[in-house]
Amino acid sequence: MNACLRSAWHFDAAVLFTAVVCIGGVLLARWVINQRDFPGRDTFILMHLASMWWIAMAGLEVASVAPDCKQFWAAMSWPGIVSVPTFWAVFLWQYVSSVRTPLPRRSMLSLVVGPVLIWLMVLSNPWHGLFYGPETGPESSEPGAPIRYQHGPLFYAAAVYVYLFMSFSLGVVLRAALTSHGVHRRHYLAFVLVTAVPWSANIAYVGFGVVVFGVDPTPFSFVFTLVAFTWLILGVRLFDLLPVARHLLLEALLDPVLVVDTQGRVIEANQAALKLGGLGAGWQGRKLQDWPVFGSDLQAMLQKQDAQQDQLLTLTTSEGYFEVRMRNIERLTRHGSVVLGQMLYLRDVTQRQLAKLKLAEALALSEERLRTITSLHEQLREQALCDPLTGLYNRRYLDELFGRELARARRENTPLSLALIDLDHFKQLNDEHGHLDGDDVLKSVAQHLLVNLRSSDTVFRIGGEEFLLILPGADSLEAARRLEVICLGLAQKPIETRSGVRHVTLSAGLALWPDQGQVLDELMRAADAALYEAKRGGRNRVCSLLPRAASPAAEAPITGKG
Ligand code: GH3
Ligand code: MG
Ligand code: MG
Repeated sequence: MNACLRSAWHFDAAVLFTAVVCIGGVLLARWVINQRDFPGRDTFILMHLASMWWIAMAGLEVASVAPDCKQFWAAMSWPGIVSVPTFWAVFLWQYVSSVRTPLPRRSMLSLVVGPVLIWLMVLSNPWHGLFYGPETGPESSEPGAPIRYQHGPLFYAAAVYVYLFMSFSLGVVLRAALTSHGVHRRHYLAFVLVTAVPWSANIAYVGFGVVVFGVDPTPFSFVFTLVAFTWLILGVRLFDLLPVARHLLLEALLDPVLVVDTQGRVIEANQAALKLGGLGAGWQGRKLQDWPVFGSDLQAMLQKQDAQQDQLLTLTTSEGYFEVRMRNIERLTRHGSVVLGQMLYLRDVTQRQLAKLKLAEALALSEERLRTITSLHEQLREQALCDPLTGLYNRRYLDELFGRELARARRENTPLSLALIDLDHFKQLNDEHGHLDGDDVLKSVAQHLLVNLRSSDTVFRIGGEEFLLILPGADSLEAARRLEVICLGLAQKPIETRSGVRHVTLSAGLALWPDQGQVLDELMRAADAALYEAKRGGRNRVCSLLPRAASPAAEAPITGKG
């Protein structure tokens, strides 16, 4: 190699052209490195470098004068020759499949085994002559004349190896072109065309011996390919948005997905979205606003919402309920991000929404039922505690109420009186006028008691024609005075019944808390005893057995008939 570096050189337009292409290629590679990421970028750069190596060696071959040195540089170009299609194939596969993770080291190593082996075969050609035949030599006797190569079996084996990768590349882009639509298909067709250029150059060289500056034209065609790919990948924005793998993924989704550009045009829609919109061919590029069923609503949402963050909105259409998620699609540049469009993801939540509505309905119904039950319950309780004939509380409520009144009297340290009332000769009234007549009298007596009570007092019907009064705050005098009024009032009251006017009197016995008892039973017993006294004393009177001089009812009935 040193000998060749020191041997004679000749520079002409071809060498200059090769050098310019090589420098241009290196600058392009540097620029690509500084660009934003894209799938397969690393392999793309490796392919660039391999290509530059190839061209640089081709340039040295043209520039060197000695035939041996020309052949040496030609041999040196082989790692590049084999690496370019290898990395090219890997890059295309990564790009089309949107693979962003770098190749594992082991795969990378296995990819360089081929180029290294072939390189060793070429370098060892002087010993075996199987790569280039014995007739390989200068075309003419002129110094620096190009070398005419006689291709040996190993050369064709290497060519087959290279063609395998080139076929794979072509297959990858052809498949991508066939499985995509619209602009994507056009884009991939451009990929196919660009891929075909090095194929043509190589076939022209291997098959027909076409040379440029006396060397294989393939490396130069690869430079064209590299420039074209760089433009296709980094220059065309549309393709950034939707690599094919994502496109296929979109199609597989059951929920509608739309991609809208900055002018509000739909540039991508999956089958589910087309089905929902009832759209066939020719939808691409149509304004979102003009999309049937949901277009105008979605457009309004888009304008209203800041799609910077993931948004979750609900859309109600004639086809059902949809949850809409909006997201900006951005391209990161070194100076910040550029919004390319928005992705709208619709999720059919009709079933969920309907279930929710049904649940709310059921909930409202059960709340209504609960209200009815509560009110019925109240009524039942009321009925259970009240006497149906007079509407007064019955005995069942007595314990509860008395307990409360007693607690209050204790707390407030106030007296509490209790009066037991029994109608006089009621059996006789029943016997003379009938039971129904007696009922009418009982109702009137209840009314009479109620109108003569204070709001804090309570009256109970505790037996057939027996009543109990609780008079909170009333001492014995007060209680006796009020019962007397009731007693006198009733005696003078003509009572209307269904069969005529009746007169009835009552006898009452009083008891006072705490003097005559601490609990209800004790007080009831005291009141009963006083009532007995009232009956014994001639009826139509109020009695108290309180042994106190102050009470007028202490020894004698308070009220007398005559
Ligand atoms: P006394 O003056 O001693 O109290 O005589 P009395 O006739 O009232 O005797 P007693 O209290 O023992 O009799 C009660 C009567 O009340 C017996 C029954 O005929 C009557 N009675 C009980 N409950 C009812 C009722 O719901 N309706 C009617 N009409 N009468 C009833
Ligand atoms: Mg009685
Ligand atoms: Mg009676």
